[in-house]
Amino acid sequence: MSAAQMPRTVEGPTPNAPRLFGTDGIRQVVGREITPVFVAEVGSAIATYLRGSGDVLLARDFRTSSEAMARVLTGALLMDGIHVREMGVMPTPCLQFNVRALGAAMGLTVTASHNPTEFNGIKFTDPGGTEIPRTSEEILERTIFQREFVRGTWDHIGELRTDADGVDRYTRSILGHSDTAAIRAAAPVVVLDPGNGTSAVTSPNLLRELGCRVITLNANPDGHFPGRPSEPNEENLWALRKAVVEFGAVVGIAHDGDADRASFVDEHGTYLAGDVTMALFAKHRLRERAAGVVVTSVTSSTLVEDVVRSEGGEIEITRSGSLPVALRMLERRAIFGGEENGGYYWPEHQVARDGPMSSAKMVELLVHSGRPLSELVQELPRYHLSKTKLPVADSRKAPLLARVHTQLEREAERLVTIDGQKAYYSDGWLLVRPSGTEPICRVYAEGRTAARAKELMDHGVELVRREVDWLEETAGRTP
Ligand code: MG
Repeated sequence: MSAAQMPRTVEGPTPNAPRLFGTDGIRQVVGREITPVFVAEVGSAIATYLRGSGDVLLARDFRTSSEAMARVLTGALLMDGIHVREMGVMPTPCLQFNVRALGAAMGLTVTASHNPTEFNGIKFTDPGGTEIPRTSEEILERTIFQREFVRGTWDHIGELRTDADGVDRYTRSILGHSDTAAIRAAAPVVVLDPGNGTSAVTSPNLLRELGCRVITLNANPDGHFPGRPSEPNEENLWALRKAVVEFGAVVGIAHDGDADRASFVDEHGTYLAGDVTMALFAKHRLRERAAGVVVTSVTSSTLVEDVVRSEGGEIEITRSGSLPVALRMLERRAIFGGEENGGYYWPEHQVARDGPMSSAKMVELLVHSGRPLSELVQELPRYHLSKTKLPVADSRKAPLLARVHTQLEREAERLVTIDGQKAYYSDGWLLVRPSGTEPICRVYAEGRTAARAKELMDHGVELVRREVDWLEETAGRTP
């Protein structure tokens, strides 16, 4: 693939340089961008970058191409002199945990997270267990585009090892940071929906060990995702919402394909928005710890801010994405962090989005409170947050954002531009934010009432459509 064909996004310091990395690793379509040659070159670029500074841990998800991609990566790394420890199939947070636990120089997960079946990709973990920083991504991109690989020699081939204890090591940490005695005494019924993804290897056992009575849905690993699309949103979790009611469970738990995220359904089968779950977790945390910093990103509801302040905590807002949240948490020694997409961070375990750890914490919260999840949710202040996405070509994202900025600057009370354009009005806000991983633009709107949220959303969607049309027309006139 030539540099000209590489996807571009608007994030990062050099918006015009070709990019491979999106918001979280490399993610593309198999057979189109993801070819054997490309995967081998990524492996060689990693070897060049590491230059013998340590081992690589390699894990993968269940996608149809993941084993093949993992083998190509392993082969390239070994040939270029890097020792590889194959960890097998596991969630991304499980691999991240093991990278820190085993002192590896880098962790790689072959996964496309929640993307549709035709996608695959690679997530990169640094020795601290967080994503690698943008500066490292730029070095890897440059190495690949300029083909500046430092090749291995016959007498410096890497060693291949396997490690079968990764899942156990990770599960033990979650159990060690959960009140298993209280959960075992209550023995709650929970329904788990791994969505045919990697939490199928961690979570049925984890939840049983915690003391739950576990019923599973879509717990057969399958890269065709026959049970439901991998994104654990309200629409896709229809079967879980039904099952929770039918089995009289206290909660329904779902994860995305690589299980860095968790979604929850209450005992009536009502889906909890990510912000609501985050506010609940933050409230519980602050009551346990009495004080502390909670970190969230610009895409979160005002609800989180309000709950943290009313519980006597301190709120920190970052750019969207897992690394900005993780880094701010480390910097501020935060007690909890979260993103509205269902990524929650528990620093006593690890500072990374962790779906299985979040499921344990939800069960613990329910057992400690002794009350139904729906009641706990009803006590939170109410906001109406909605989000949608519109198709926008990668090449249109930067000019679109500039035009949206001009318009919103004119009409909003306050504009926050740390990530996308977030416009505050007296009774709500609107955020326009192009995706770093897909050719789409997300629009978020929140209001005190459902009507106001809808009004702001309609306005945002109309604005994006109008500006995209204008850009298309202009491009048509001056090819
Ligand atoms: Mg994911």
